[in-house]
Amino acid sequence: MPHAHDNSIIISGEALPVIDMPIHDHWREAADRRGFDITARVADRYALALTCRQCGKLSRTRLFVLMHHQPRCSHCIEAAWRQEAAAAGLTFQRRDPASTAYAWYRLPCGHDARRQIGLITRVAAGETGLRCATCQEAVEAAEARAVGWELVGPDPAGDTNYREYRHISCSHQQRIARGNVKSQRFDCAGCGVTWTAAPSFIYLFRVLLPSGMRVLKLGFSKNPRSRLQHQLLGDGDLACHVLRVVAMPSGHDAIRTEKGLHTSLRRRFPDAVIDAKDFAGALTVVTEVYAEWLEAEIQQLLDGIEDDSDDDGA
Ligand SMILES: [Zn+2]
Ligand SMILES: [Zn+2]
Ligand SMILES: [Zn+2]
Repeated sequence: MPHAHDNSIIISGEALPVIDMPIHDHWREAADRRGFDITARVADRYALALTCRQCGKLSRTRLFVLMHHQPRCSHCIEAAWRQEAAAAGLTFQRRDPASTAYAWYRLPCGHDARRQIGLITRVAAGETGLRCATCQEAVEAAEARAVGWELVGPDPAGDTNYREYRHISCSHQQRIARGNVKSQRFDCAGCGVTWTAAPSFIYLFRVLLPSGMRVLKLGFSKNPRSRLQHQLLGDGDLACHVLRVVAMPSGHDAIRTEKGLHTSLRRRFPDAVIDAKDFAGALTVVTEVYAEWLEAEIQQLLDGIEDDSDDDGA
């Protein structure tokens, strides 16, 4: 055992003076029942250095605690935390000296975060996830930049679905739902640019589901490739392919045309509508997914729409 010098003992890096007073038999019996050996009396008349029989390491315990409660070995507790963190995909770094309920963890992305120890238990059990605030903010800032806005910070009104953004072209600042920034479905109250007035697109994607089934996704977006990446795919590894993108003069036209397409397809080809349970977890949509064999039919409908909008423009 680590002795600093003859009359002190080191526990968790701290040298404690050994008190040369008797260790009573009924103390030793209590320690024995609780899985410890009394190594020395330390610090004052009422503290003991206990050796844990689980891990063989020393910890400091009040005599009162030994006699009336089950003392806990700090090394064994920390070992359990390390194990739990590993099960949650994290690395335990150190306890938070300011609070016994918190510790520092290294996240899978490499950032360190202070988290409640009890939360890690729930993450390890798969009850909840753990997201890195640093990475999350970088993602949200990039989302905003991609549509010409700048992420300013959290929602001043405190809604967790909203953030404060600045329009780069006019410097106007406003709160917008994060989901609407990703889909560009919002207007600038400063310069009056509205998403419904900006050009929009009808798109057709082919998606390979984890089950091996290939399906078609038909929808509208102001930015089909961004929709494909940011919204549609619940799982980043899905094989996806943009089959067709048809430009529409406005968001209103795109919505109206898209709705018409779905109504017509559902009525004429009910067998081609894929049940939501077949792509649950793979696609972040619940409707508007069709069997692959319907592609020729959909392409033909899109040909018609393209011809119509060409006529409009002529
Ligand atoms: Zn122990
Ligand atoms: Zn991170
Ligand atoms: Zn603006």
